[in-house]
Amino acid sequence: MQMIADLHTHTLCATHAYNTFTEMAAAAKEIGYCALAVTDHAPAMPDSPHAWHFQNWSAMPREIGGVVMLYGAEANVMDTKGGLDLSESQLKAQDWVVASIHSSCVPGLLTRREANRLWLAVAENPYVDIIGHSEQENYRYDYDLVTKAFARNHKVVELVQRPQRRHPQYVRPAAGLPCQRLSYFSGQ
Ligand SMILES: [Zn+2]
Ligand SMILES: [Zn+2]
Repeated sequence: MQMIADLHTHTLCATHAYNTFTEMAAAAKEIGYCALAVTDHAPAMPDSPHAWHFQNWSAMPREIGGVVMLYGAEANVMDTKGGLDLSESQLKAQDWVVASIHSSCVPGLLTRREANRLWLAVAENPYVDIIGHSEQENYRYDYDLVTKAFARNHKVVELVQRPQRRHPQYVRPAAGLPCQRLSYFSGQ
């Protein structure tokens, strides 16, 4: 599998990452990616940028150094009904939305039934493009049941987070949607 983009990244705008958008795009170009999604944490995480960060994307260029930019957020799943910490209008303003569970937003252990319910609800959310680091010890779900729902709804699924994220075996595009989206954004 040829890697063409990183669809879940954090920048200097979050307080636990240290590179600017321009530096990130330059690094993406250097390793041969055609696109980069910047997806800093949405407001329920303590390192989130101000809400205005996610509503001013028209100020940013569509490409940086030849790399197509997708501006978005890593939304936090907040409950077992699949609720997110961004409103519909905020979600609409994003090019690209990752939905992830973080322990500060969903503390403790979920039963498999609860985790299934959560992800099946997120799968139906039309604003979510990619499921972030879905395979976590505290949130085990029924893989066959849930990933089929992700695929039916054209979600990309990230299984685990760094550093394995960059290895192709850990990335399973559910239905080819990223290529369609990237062609749209690059005008091809
Ligand atoms: Zn992240
Ligand atoms: Zn995350």
